[in-house]
Amino acid sequence: MLLNLSGEVWENYLLITKMKNITLIQPRHNYAPQEGFWHIYLSAPLLSFKARLLKVLGNTKIDYLDANFSAPDYSKLDWIVWINLVWAPYIPEVLKIIEKLNDDVDIILWWQIISSLTEEEFYKIFNQKRKRVINGNIDKNIEDLFWLEIWILPKVENINLIKSYQDIQGEQMKLYLEREFSLYLSQWCKYNCSFCQAVKWVPEIYRDFDMLKQELIYLSNRAKSLWIHTLKFYLSNLDILQTPNNFEKYLYTISEVIDNTWIKFDFRWLCGVESFLDVYNNNYDLLIKAKNLWLTSIWFWIDWATPEVWKSIWKWQNYKSLWKEKVFNEQEKSLEVIKLTSELWITPETLMVFWHPWETDESLKLAYEFSKEMYEKYGSIPRPHISKTIIPWAKAWYEKQNQDIVNSFIENPEYFQALDYTALPSELTHSDTNLRRLARKWYKKICNLDPINSTKYIIPDTPVYREIAYRLWKTITELNLGKFDR
Ligand code: SF4
Repeated sequence: MLLNLSGEVWENYLLITKMKNITLIQPRHNYAPQEGFWHIYLSAPLLSFKARLLKVLGNTKIDYLDANFSAPDYSKLDWIVWINLVWAPYIPEVLKIIEKLNDDVDIILWWQIISSLTEEEFYKIFNQKRKRVINGNIDKNIEDLFWLEIWILPKVENINLIKSYQDIQGEQMKLYLEREFSLYLSQWCKYNCSFCQAVKWVPEIYRDFDMLKQELIYLSNRAKSLWIHTLKFYLSNLDILQTPNNFEKYLYTISEVIDNTWIKFDFRWLCGVESFLDVYNNNYDLLIKAKNLWLTSIWFWIDWATPEVWKSIWKWQNYKSLWKEKVFNEQEKSLEVIKLTSELWITPETLMVFWHPWETDESLKLAYEFSKEMYEKYGSIPRPHISKTIIPWAKAWYEKQNQDIVNSFIENPEYFQALDYTALPSELTHSDTNLRRLARKWYKKICNLDPINSTKYIIPDTPVYREIAYRLWKTITELNLGKFDR
């Protein structure tokens, strides 16, 4: 059984799908200038959804509109519009798109964390003026809108995106393939760091390697036809060496693709210190193989502060050792992975998500000194990010004492921008004035360690900082041109 509909209803449905279009929208980057191609980035999640839908809806026309190319004419969209909400700071952008759409359009918002909003919160943010906005993470909503049973949609692990890529025209595809883009390889993480919004504490799940191979061969041939000889990927894995067996299969797959197509790959990963050391000590050849297949940089989840802070955020893997043969002191694991990576001639990057409410001047200073030392000794690029404790999904979002702050976000959705991990601390995210001042000071110092390559900060759009945010907006935009997750 494909769809649970009677023959007549199904035929009517197919008739509608031939006459009308489903439109998938990638919103313009929230720090992009009004015009220009500054934030071109191929969005794997949106195109995966298109590929899954096409498997079920056959010949239905599904358009993919990327507002980073040019502002779509929203008034022409007439049926179902699917918007990639990306993450919390995009909420103000998405609300602007919703306002421009016709009243009779069904709007689906898609974003993992949106499911963490209560029904009432969702209603207040998105449904006050427009009734037909639904949460695309709820299976029942998708079933009702597309008249299908959710189980017939293929799982994201079991498809390739070739059909989605085929619909992207020459010049647009060229601009995508010339830049780094995300490649879906795995999802989920076995660790359980308290601040993290990933799907965690579950085994990592990989996609089907045959599908991956077909997709990479297609992308390589398409790139070559556009005179592009290197494809730059940012792999989706949250901790790439968490399941080394799968990673080995991935390397085998890409070496087969390279043998077939002679394309060059350039890829970078996110990696946890524990997984790296495990592979380094027990499967060193795997790292050499990855390096020979053009692994260029590794972001390490240092999230460095002090063991006390790591304990508070449940990041035991950064200060405890599971290996009997080696006992690490408190800071040694972080230092070691960066050193070993640079000795392999791979660029390390020091990823920090910290500035938690329980930090002190001392812990913040240590973070700065660690970033500085790693940068100066090993060329490890600083990637500082500011933890946002009261954020949908996190425990603090639901706690009684934080409801005034939560309500500020709900009643003023433009404040969601302040939840950007690169936005400086604000009165909504760090209510302690002294900690806010210290966090700003040390965060900016880390950002300035490498004026070209380090992560750049953003000014939050909240009542206290709004005036300064508007005054500095042009500079902030310029500093962040072309940056997505760096
Ligand atoms: S290791 Fe990284 S992805 Fe996994 S839970 Fe911790 S912060 Fe999140």
